Amino acid sequence: MLYQKYPMKSLLFVFVFLCLPFYGCSQQIQKPQAKIEKIIKQDAEWKDSLSYEDYCIMRKKGTEPPFTGKYVDNKEPGIYSCKGCKLDLFTSNTKFDSGTGWPSFFQPLHKDHILEKIDTRYEFKTYEVLCARCEAHLGHVFDDGPQPTGLRYCINSAALVFKADSSFQVK
Ligand SMILES: [Zn+2]
Repeated sequence: MLYQKYPMKSLLFVFVFLCLPFYGCSQQIQKPQAKIEKIIKQDAEWKDSLSYEDYCIMRKKGTEPPFTGKYVDNKEPGIYSCKGCKLDLFTSNTKFDSGTGWPSFFQPLHKDHILEKIDTRYEFKTYEVLCARCEAHLGHVFDDGPQPTGLRYCINSAALVFKADSSFQVK
């Protein structure tokens, strides 16, 4: 009786009912990758959890002297994570010997895992590289790197933790 009296209304109901689950699915598929959740600590907490040298580099934007960092000449396959929060940042797949004295990569593992900010402390224009999760200072990025990106991420060993993993390659 209802269907005969309101044929359009019932058709609309069926249409909405059938389409809703598909709409829900497509929303899930198109959902962008979850943003990196920040880790925020007080300065005193970082001071306690890092060595003095690491703290100066990672939280006060320092730079380790060239050819002194433990990963400059590391040729092992594996992954480099942030020493502050363990977020994976770079891999041996994109590490290359730049001759500068700092570990150098032509690409981060994922662009969302790092932040790039203009560093105004120098006369020439340069970009500071930070961890996207704990905002630790990692180093700088320059545009004189090898292909395919032409970029050189010049990173302090002190800001990294290396984990050997043979599933990665060595350049
Ligand atoms: Zn971090």
